[in-house]
Amino acid sequence: MMTHALPLRAGIDMGGTGTRIILLAGEQEVASETIPTAWFNTLPQDQRARALVDIICRLRPVGQRLGSLGIGASGPVNNVTEIIENNDTLACFSDYPLVAELRELLAVPVAIDNDAVVAALGEYHLGAGRGSERMLMVTLGTGIGVALLDKGKPLRGSDGQHPEAGHITVSSEPVHCYCGLQGCWEMLASRSQLQKQLRREIPNLKWDASTPAVLSEMMAARPAVAGILHHYGQVVGCGLNTLLTLYGPDATVLSGSAAALLPLFQSGMDAVMTRAEGYAVNRKITHSSLGDAAGALGAAILPTLRGTR
Ligand SMILES: [Zn+2]
Repeated sequence: MMTHALPLRAGIDMGGTGTRIILLAGEQEVASETIPTAWFNTLPQDQRARALVDIICRLRPVGQRLGSLGIGASGPVNNVTEIIENNDTLACFSDYPLVAELRELLAVPVAIDNDAVVAALGEYHLGAGRGSERMLMVTLGTGIGVALLDKGKPLRGSDGQHPEAGHITVSSEPVHCYCGLQGCWEMLASRSQLQKQLRREIPNLKWDASTPAVLSEMMAARPAVAGILHHYGQVVGCGLNTLLTLYGPDATVLSGSAAALLPLFQSGMDAVMTRAEGYAVNRKITHSSLGDAAGALGAAILPTLRGTR
């Protein structure tokens, strides 16, 4: 019963599609809700922080108080001003002092970081990365999110910002990326790219919990489907080669909805990741154990980890 005496920790994972809000008592999830991010766009900007606070209050079990709030936001977050700078996919929470407004409304510590970082913190402290010294997390979703934690600390650029490692170039194919480069890892190995290729072979393919089993069966009967997944493993492996060589993590966690297909594209990864003796790197690559909840869970523990205001 002691955990109920602790103040609750709220976590918000703001994605381009959905905004997930969870409440933790200790490390136990006591409530959770996902709201389409587009809904916040229907509200005036100065009411969006209040709307988030209202949802947290509604989810909070009677008689329990809130101790902190952490946020993971998709795309660039300015770690100095705490302002989200993602007008591409998270415009409704970008370019205004959302964190300051939430801090004032809730009167509790509030912390924010990039969603790839908070998801990695979730896996590192509560999931598949437990016990690792240096953990690489790669999220294969709409795009590719990458975060590296060294003894739990995220690797940042010299300007303090999160390096967007989905934009390492892995191919000379002239595939234009919105970042300005061509042949970016994200343009070839995101789940969206895999979906696009699979739809050419399977126009009515649904993307849900049954997809791995459905695809596994099809691969046995249709060489073209097996070929697409093998090739996908190769492009995922190309980006991982660069990151594993540079950073030498002792654990690599794959997350995002394409990660569930790991056994189906493992052969392609192995084909490009096998090295000569003496050049071997740690290839302990596992599936995320927290799944889609990693971001919100990591966000919820962020203020505790930072000892933040
Ligand atoms: Zn790019």
